[in-house]
Amino acid sequence: MSAVWHPFTQHGLGEPIPQVTHAEGAILHTVDGRRIVDAISSWWVTTHGHCHPRIVAAMREQAERLDQIIFAGWTHQPAEDLAQGLRAIMPEALTRVFFSDSGSTSVEVALKMALGYWTARGEPRHRIVVLEHSYHGDTIGAMSVGARGVYNQAYAPLLFDVATVPFPSPGHEQATLDALERACADGAAAFIVEPLVLGAGGMLFYPAHVLAQMRAICAAAGVLFIADEVMTGWGRTGTLLACEQAGVVPDILCLSKGLTGGAVPLAVTMAIEPIFEAHWSTDRARMFFHSSSYTANPLACAAANANLAIWRDEPVLERVAGLAARQAAGLSTLATLPGVTGARAFGTIIALELGGNAAYLSELGPRLLAFFRDRDLLLRPLGNTVYVMPPYSITPSDLDRVHAAIGEACAVLAG
Ligand SMILES: *Cc1c(COP(=O)(O)O)cnc(C)c1O
Repeated sequence: MSAVWHPFTQHGLGEPIPQVTHAEGAILHTVDGRRIVDAISSWWVTTHGHCHPRIVAAMREQAERLDQIIFAGWTHQPAEDLAQGLRAIMPEALTRVFFSDSGSTSVEVALKMALGYWTARGEPRHRIVVLEHSYHGDTIGAMSVGARGVYNQAYAPLLFDVATVPFPSPGHEQATLDALERACADGAAAFIVEPLVLGAGGMLFYPAHVLAQMRAICAAAGVLFIADEVMTGWGRTGTLLACEQAGVVPDILCLSKGLTGGAVPLAVTMAIEPIFEAHWSTDRARMFFHSSSYTANPLACAAANANLAIWRDEPVLERVAGLAARQAAGLSTLATLPGVTGARAFGTIIALELGGNAAYLSELGPRLLAFFRDRDLLLRPLGNTVYVMPPYSITPSDLDRVHAAIGEACAVLAG
């Protein structure tokens, strides 16, 4: 019997847990010899494909030189290079790079930076404004700024209060903007948002002009604007950052998942100079009080530097555009099938609902999971929302297989 307690897994259901031995591109190989197409980028992290040779080589080389070093008051070249590399490709106003280890911690850091900023200015503000259906991670602070539901009900007494503005569904954009304006009016500290695509909330998309207007409202009210690009960053939406499509520059930017190409855990929270300056002092009581043991781990930084080099020398955005076109073509066929609603595409992501109302614990979810597993596909529907978010190196024939299986699932399960 395995001693492993898996995340987001109900062990009481006794569902099979496949064991993966090796992977390349969009393909996972299991211990029992199956060849599985990873159609969700191993939960949204893998961008260029599994075990990209340049990322693997960078980690191997780094491992032989320096494995780990305290980062409070010490530094190393891979971290310095990565900070410079990020400054060169991210919006110019984001001058400071703070390292951590996961999307959730990058969000915790962003929230602490925002409150630290207001405290240092002698104008303590603490209210955080959030968008309905958001997801920002599973630690207590990240859950607090995300949607409430069955997945955090038991911990609700520990979650702090936030102001929630409604999701800008088609035709209701103005209601979102009006609510944001009201929420910002009386001294909120920050607004945190997933730009253009809400991932775990159900692959919900909203237009760039709404993001631009939300940004403008925050700027006018002097409320810090935090962009959580943990999922949307690194090409998923068709551009390096989703914010680019709206001409938006945030005050704080959270990046993780694709930062290392999806190879090893690493995150950064980038901030504008005034937020760094607010913590700058000769008074030790005003420093930014956050660290974790593996902050800016050299192996992880080396992997991220290799990812940046891939973005620099390889036609990544062309691959992204090619994948987006094939995804859209596949979706146009699926959209016509009976039982399919809400067919939608954004960059490299497609999503649709199969029959009936969405709910995370919907009975259809586990049946779909098993259906795809039986066909050697890694897909993990959110309730009855089926989405495809593959690594950019997925072959056209493997992608066709994914689309065909979704079509088959419509006929068998939802028809
Ligand atoms: C996945 C995700 C997170 C959390 O990242 P972890 O690395 O799983 O902690 C935060 N925000 C968004 C938008 C995400 O998709």
